[in-house]
Amino acid sequence: MTKRPVQRPYRVAVIGVGVIGACVGWHLSRQGAQMTLIDAGHPGEGVTDWSFSWVNASNKTARRSYFDLNSAGLAAYHDLATTIGPDAWWHPSGHLRWTDDPAAQADLMKTAGLLAGLGYRVEVHTGAEVRRRLEPALTMPDEVAAVFYPDEAWVHGRHLVSRLAGRTVAEHRFGTAVSAIDTGSDGGVRTVTLSDGTRLDVDIIVNAAGPGAARIAALLGRHLPMRHEPGLVTRITCARTPIHRVVHAPHLALRPDGDTTMVLHSNEVDAHIDTGEDPAALARRLHESARNVVPDLAGSSITESRVAERPIPADGYPSVGAVPSVPGYYEAVSHSGITLGPIIGRLLTTEILNGERAGSLADFRPERFPV
Ligand SMILES: Cc1cc2nc3c(=O)[nH]c(=O)nc-3n(C[C@H](O)[C@H](O)[C@H](O)COP(=O)(O)OP(=O)(O)OC[C@H]3O[C@@H](n4cnc5c(N)ncnc54)[C@H](O)[C@@H]3O)c2cc1C
Repeated sequence: MTKRPVQRPYRVAVIGVGVIGACVGWHLSRQGAQMTLIDAGHPGEGVTDWSFSWVNASNKTARRSYFDLNSAGLAAYHDLATTIGPDAWWHPSGHLRWTDDPAAQADLMKTAGLLAGLGYRVEVHTGAEVRRRLEPALTMPDEVAAVFYPDEAWVHGRHLVSRLAGRTVAEHRFGTAVSAIDTGSDGGVRTVTLSDGTRLDVDIIVNAAGPGAARIAALLGRHLPMRHEPGLVTRITCARTPIHRVVHAPHLALRPDGDTTMVLHSNEVDAHIDTGEDPAALARRLHESARNVVPDLAGSSITESRVAERPIPADGYPSVGAVPSVPGYYEAVSHSGITLGPIIGRLLTTEILNGERAGSLADFRPERFPV
């Protein structure tokens, strides 16, 4: 790949400081780039704070290259925890799943077999074993076969972003949105204008604006097609979190979020978001399911609930890398961004600074969406 004739250290503006922008910015600053982190709001308070935040590759088997990228994402988290230290952000406690539908149960076991064949760690336990060894508070039939993926995890997105941004040597422009991007005579990026009127000279821009990414691309005349797939996440508070890991029970996913808080989500409930049903009523439905699956949550109450837009390019896969028609402009836009943040940060940094295009991103490059 031909690199632009700009002098090092490159002046890089990362637009959007959610999990993806924070990971990209942290990797770039470690390699000596001159960084500006820009966010319209507060770092980590976008969709990253309203995610189910499950780090996994077991749910990404539809396409081999996507499974491989997510597996690399999982491994990158273990490296990241070694480098910056684990803490309140990192919870490698595994993932448990079972279902009450015979067809879905057959699919679950088929996927588990496929993953085991790929060297992905998987265990199968009866419901009785799960309660004895893993999650005593769960209601589930004694004889049901539950799949346990011990290497999967959940991440507290806001804590992770705060940890990474705090360790990134950068100028911070928070509470100001990017309102314009100017290009030079070669079509390459030159300046970024912020909503307070500030103009920043830049060599490189990384679009990590999550659900706002299409609007940033449009400032450069680029159409980045995105899906509309909102999701509802509900936080509840309880005396003491009775569940220790990510759990996919029939019709409900739940995980701890702290010592006295839990997060609830359900794809089935998400399907009702655009039907006009009150999100507060949907949240109450999630809460009722949670109390059925975990009777110890009887005294819990809903504290927060929000509908968030998933940042999903139109074909469902990430858009990561350089956009050749706009020199100096890079995209880092993805669903599963919690799982993929650290690996995207690492691979994109190598591409920006050394011009090396990772083979593992070949299926996910921005060029597949022509300007
Ligand atoms: C219901 C739900 C469940 C999910 N579950 C999972 C899961 O279990 N596992 C998983 O891996 N992923 C999951 N995801 C996806 C994951 O949450 C996202 O892919 C990830 O958080 C995206 O991070 P981001 O940094 O791209 O976006 P964000 O966190 O939204 O960050 C983008 C930032 O850009 C800023 N911004 C936007 N426009 C501008 C502008 N013009 N100027 C300056 N700043 C701007 C925003 O303020 C924001 O802070 C889920 C998503 C949803 C909605």
